[in-house]
Amino acid sequence: MNNIVAIEAERMIDARGGPPVEPAVVVVEGERITAAGSPAQIKVPEGATRIALGARTLLPGLIDAHVHLKGWRSSNPNDILITPHPLAALRAAADCRKLLHAGFTTVRDCGGCLGPNLRDAIAAREIPGPRILTAYRGLSQTGRVEKVTWAADITPLRQEVDGVDECRRVVREHIGLGADLIKVSITGRVYAPQSDPGQTAYTLDEIRAVVDEAHRMGRLVAAHAQATQGIKNGVLAGVDSIEHGIYLDEEACELMRERKTALVPTLAYFYRIATLGEGLGSPAYAVRKAREVVDAHMKSFALAMRMGLRIGMGTDFEGSPLFPHGENGMELELMVQGGMSAGDVIVAATATNAAILGIEKKLGTIATGKIADLIAVPGNPLKEISSLRRVEFVMQGGRVACSRIPDVAEIS
Ligand SMILES: [Zn+2]
Repeated sequence: MNNIVAIEAERMIDARGGPPVEPAVVVVEGERITAAGSPAQIKVPEGATRIALGARTLLPGLIDAHVHLKGWRSSNPNDILITPHPLAALRAAADCRKLLHAGFTTVRDCGGCLGPNLRDAIAAREIPGPRILTAYRGLSQTGRVEKVTWAADITPLRQEVDGVDECRRVVREHIGLGADLIKVSITGRVYAPQSDPGQTAYTLDEIRAVVDEAHRMGRLVAAHAQATQGIKNGVLAGVDSIEHGIYLDEEACELMRERKTALVPTLAYFYRIATLGEGLGSPAYAVRKAREVVDAHMKSFALAMRMGLRIGMGTDFEGSPLFPHGENGMELELMVQGGMSAGDVIVAATATNAAILGIEKKLGTIATGKIADLIAVPGNPLKEISSLRRVEFVMQGGRVACSRIPDVAEIS
């Protein structure tokens, strides 16, 4: 089969900040983009296979900067403890296919022991799914992890660790076990009975030790941070992204802007617990706390935009009916409802997220030399952001991974 493909569409949003290109053609050779722009300016090589996408918009593959891949199917956090490990892994593999088919060609797994194995199986093309950057298990201070006593050693999502020396050791251990990044929880949380999103966790010295050790080994640090002081501690210690950021204030935003710390808001996560959690079996404490924080969270999102922070897109979805993989595009709609323009939301979910993951040289925009991760949606997502939840074509690394368009076949 010919190795050169020319993809034509009515419109292209390349996520490089300019206006859409109408019409557009993207030339892909092997796994790379070799040309992209208006058909008047691009010379398509002779013999290239043409893929005509008609009245659709081409965009870079979407990136979700905050997921968990652990095969959860219940809103009760303790159910995972009685789920056989292979069953959880198979469900997580099914979630990976759903993510890819929904247009997410890359995800950042912010904690879960299945991450390294899923990443490797997908990279070897044994199962379909997004390329994965994984934190392996997140670090959490003792007493903050949802668990029952007898299962203290098998909680798969987070690992309890305390003290400067132990924090350094566990960062080293996780990197040895395949972590691409380090995730650390530096405040309390909504979805745990014994902690509160307004509380800080970890001392500044402990967070500094995590960051120092991770950075020394070339890994970025994502910090679960909801409380105002906890967010500030994280930024001062040098974490690379603040996840959730429920209680931002101007001082926190000022610090984040100065140090270029990114924000991954995860609006859908709290919104879904507050509105759907009760019906889907969430513990009462989670529903109560989510309802308490949603308004403050939306205000923080608006403040972050006003203060010009680097904002990415992440959902915190993990596969249960409350946080279903494949529906992650919901976050894009909530960001628009929160006041961000559709064009900025698309950049957040592609180019900015690629930078937050540290892969912006290879992915995140449609440009010559980049890896060919492309999606197509019907109509114009700048006018109707929900079209990004109706992805009809997915190319990953130059291969057609999913097509719902007649006459356009998948290439496995
Ligand atoms: Zn998370």
